Amino acid sequence: MRRLCIGLTGGIGSGKSTVAELFRELGASIIDTDAISHELTRPNGKAIPDILSAFGAGFIDASGALDRSKMRGTIIADASARQRLERILHPMILAACKERLQEPAPYHMLVAPLLLESPDFLKLADRVLLIDSTEENQVSRVMQRSPLSESEVRAIMVLQLPREERARRADDIIGNDGTLEELKPRVAALHRRYANLATTI
Ligand code: ATP
Repeated sequence: MRRLCIGLTGGIGSGKSTVAELFRELGASIIDTDAISHELTRPNGKAIPDILSAFGAGFIDASGALDRSKMRGTIIADASARQRLERILHPMILAACKERLQEPAPYHMLVAPLLLESPDFLKLADRVLLIDSTEENQVSRVMQRSPLSESEVRAIMVLQLPREERARRADDIIGNDGTLEELKPRVAALHRRYANLATTI
């Protein structure tokens, strides 16, 4: 049975996980590609053998998991390494998403930072919801949350689509430059729309 799938995307630190959690509280089924990727690269995760043979033992830590910070540094600096990692992870993440999309739910929300950059994932979404915030807010929120420096955050932002381009390609946009309280009514209004839409497909 086909179920409505809303693709949720946005730049690093724009508030995707925060907004997704609010949709989850209202009853949406959340499929988080970052969480799936973590699962695949945890100790003895399904992607570890392929990462080991493509990148070498230096990228696997003592626990048998992907060395995330080393890989982040490598793929920021090296487009071919980024593609090599994507060739391993994307098909596995895609398969997991397709499986989850079969599960019953009022509607599904596929959370994917690179949704607009990844045609295979974009194809799964009936609509694209963008979480939009200023670059200054993105940088300061990520720096509050993680040990990344401003230049590291900006290096990741350069690899993502420009803010205007994302906005041009989205069907719906939630602006997240205000308080967390301000997000709630915006999420609730869209949730009602999506739940209605889900009854029509
Ligand atoms: P990433 O791309 O890195 O996964 P994300 O887009 O999922 O990030 P979140 O993790 O939801 O973004 O938000 C980044 C940080 O900013 C979190 O610590 C979150 O609590 C905080 N945050 C999100 N929205 C707001 C807001 N409106 N006001 C204050 N803090 C916020």
